[in-house]
Amino acid sequence: MDSYTIGIDLGGTNLRIAAYAPGASNQQFLARVDLPTRVGAGPASVVKEMAEAIRGLAEGLPRMELRGVGLGTPGPLELPAGILHGLPNLPGWDRFELRREFECALAGAGVRCPVHVESDANVAALAECVLGAGSALGVDSLCMLTLGTGVGNAIILGGAIFSGAHGMAGEAGHLTIWPDGVACNCGNTGCLEVYASATAVRRMAEGAADSGVAPGLKAWRESTGALDAQAVFQLARQGDRDALGIFTTVGIALGIALAGLVNTLDLRLYVVGGGLAGAWEFFSPAMLRELNTRSYVYRLVNERLTDRRIAIVPAVLGPDSGLLGAALLALGAQSREPEI
Ligand code: ADP
Ligand code: MG
Ligand code: ZN
Repeated sequence: MDSYTIGIDLGGTNLRIAAYAPGASNQQFLARVDLPTRVGAGPASVVKEMAEAIRGLAEGLPRMELRGVGLGTPGPLELPAGILHGLPNLPGWDRFELRREFECALAGAGVRCPVHVESDANVAALAECVLGAGSALGVDSLCMLTLGTGVGNAIILGGAIFSGAHGMAGEAGHLTIWPDGVACNCGNTGCLEVYASATAVRRMAEGAADSGVAPGLKAWRESTGALDAQAVFQLARQGDRDALGIFTTVGIALGIALAGLVNTLDLRLYVVGGGLAGAWEFFSPAMLRELNTRSYVYRLVNERLTDRRIAIVPAVLGPDSGLLGAALLALGAQSREPEI
């Protein structure tokens, strides 16, 4: 009997669920469900919704065996317990026992199979390593930033997720970019996340529209009633100066963070994914400029060791890297690194 896995990419905005047959090339899912994440309904309700969607997918594949379910979730996620802690973008989810509650909900929906839980950025990075930017460059180590509702981060070393002592490695979304900057939900001020997430783009756009100095943003809000990151992207495509300026701020913040990551890790590959990475053409020039100015490791390698240049690239698998990574995780192909 042919088998498949189900991957879930749980985000602060989007909830994506898909069935995946091992060996299929990227983004060829057997079936998928895309939903908005009903954050306000609370974790128990969202977990139940996920379990029901999985039952629906499984019922549609009656002649195939479900090998396992992989779940990528915003962190910090305590492993191996699978407990969420102090999530900046999912208020009310603090201390939620995600693994246990999800297993119970699946059993309640009549689905029986192993469950694997990981941080959303970790699974996205895993997919990029195995089937995306990593395999394209011929490397099995990379660092990834995911730009969505928040900013996720992951480090893959030798094909394995680097998890840290508590499962909480890869929280570079909360690196300090500007010490006295905007307050972040994590308790710090001026984090990368408050300048380089879709939420940050919306906040900056709203602020500019309110201040009266950005006529294009203001007019868009008046005609559509909304000013999200997608709208700022559309305005940037039309050449709107203020929309382009917001993406320059995003790029500068990313460049500062990447300079620290490049100097610390000295990897060959850094991948930028998540929904906001769709605006790569607008933020990447400032990002690369800033990185080049601030990281001497980046400059030295790319000027002198040109056969092993450092690559900074958008996610090859696009917005589905997290979904694909969650499905891969459920294959059990991923070996965790030894306990620290
Ligand atoms: P999450 O995982 O937190 O749910 P995603 O990674 O799915 O978030 O990203 C969703 C966000 O990305 C939305 O806020 C959406 O407006 C934004 N987004 C999607 N495409 C683009 C684009 N081309 N330009 C700017 N923002 C985009
Ligand atoms: Mg996400
Ligand atoms: Zn923070």
